[in-house]
Amino acid sequence: MNSQVLLHTTPYGKIALPPLPAGFASEPVFDSYGRRISYLRISLTDACNLRCVYCMPEQMTFRPRSELMSDEELLYLVQIAVSLGVTKIRLTGGEPTIRPGVVELVRALANIPGVQDLAMTTNGLLLDKLAQPLAEAGLKRVNISIDTLDAQKFRRITRWGAIEEVWKGIKAAEEAGLTPIKLNAVVVRHFNDGQDMVDLARLTLENNWEVRFIEMMPFGEIGDFQQSHVVSSAEMKKQIEQQFGPLEEASYDYVDPSRPFRIQGALGTLGFISSVTEPFCQGCGRVRLTADGKLRLCLLRDDEVDLLTPLRAGASWETLRNRMREGAYHKPWGHGLAEGHFAENRAMNQIGG
Ligand code: SAM
Ligand code: SF4
Repeated sequence: MNSQVLLHTTPYGKIALPPLPAGFASEPVFDSYGRRISYLRISLTDACNLRCVYCMPEQMTFRPRSELMSDEELLYLVQIAVSLGVTKIRLTGGEPTIRPGVVELVRALANIPGVQDLAMTTNGLLLDKLAQPLAEAGLKRVNISIDTLDAQKFRRITRWGAIEEVWKGIKAAEEAGLTPIKLNAVVVRHFNDGQDMVDLARLTLENNWEVRFIEMMPFGEIGDFQQSHVVSSAEMKKQIEQQFGPLEEASYDYVDPSRPFRIQGALGTLGFISSVTEPFCQGCGRVRLTADGKLRLCLLRDDEVDLLTPLRAGASWETLRNRMREGAYHKPWGHGLAEGHFAENRAMNQIGG
């Protein structure tokens, strides 16, 4: 195995892996619609230290560790993905920071030749302690979830979270240089629509952050709740404009699902992620690796390719690479939310949002 990614013994243990071919070259992969697949989002764990109402049921059970990829398995599959043209990686979950050994895993990922961008989406609770070590290990940026500035509402949405911990995490991330800071807020009707959005948007007046408002997507057993409490981006924007006046369009990177705007004179920007009402499937070059080692081709479709089972059964580098390449080729064009179809087999935390 490539010595650059060998880890010390981790809480996830070690297994024997097939050797990497010497000097493998990266070859770009396109799906059947011509979209280049270059972005891998990896769920480090399905477990979490919160239970946000829009993400999972309160009585959620998590997978046993033996069903999740070990560090070495994960690194091996990432190297295959990089050999197929992945350059950008985002770590997510569940809550990625609760994975034992996360700093060492980040260091190993950052050292894989070909990984150009390594970011994380986190609830921020553990960043106070982890931001600096993660930055030193090679993490470049973080997106931090914060759905309201009101401590009681925050507790209600997350079911027990303490907002002060998130603030400490945001501050630590900024000090560690994990910038630009992006804050994610999923808007849930009767939980944090209206004034909560206005208060979050106000943060951009004096901070060079991007505050992103996300339309809630439906998944699995809480799909009915999610569908009945969704707020459209158009409505969010209108409510914010009632307070601050017309938003200006900010420059737009078309591969980013967030459409950015600016309150006049603000340092930072506002983003709207409109997966439900204005899907951005045309520019989507993402695939996901679930914590249990499945290549998930679209967030909102159940199509998956199992990689961990064949890896554990001794499949070769070439076999796994072919499975990954063929899976990516068959990435579905888009989701079926407008037709009333949504992903049934997993909750958001089990996919890696
Ligand atoms: N625990 C981390 C966090 O909350 O940032 C990372 C995992 S979380 C599943 C990733 C992102 O998905 C977060 O920004 C979260 O707000 C968002 N999310 C969770 N459930 C969602 C849903 N039903 N619709 C839209 N976004 C959702
Ligand atoms: Fe945990 Fe993130 Fe899901 Fe909230 S959104 S329950 S923090 S995984």
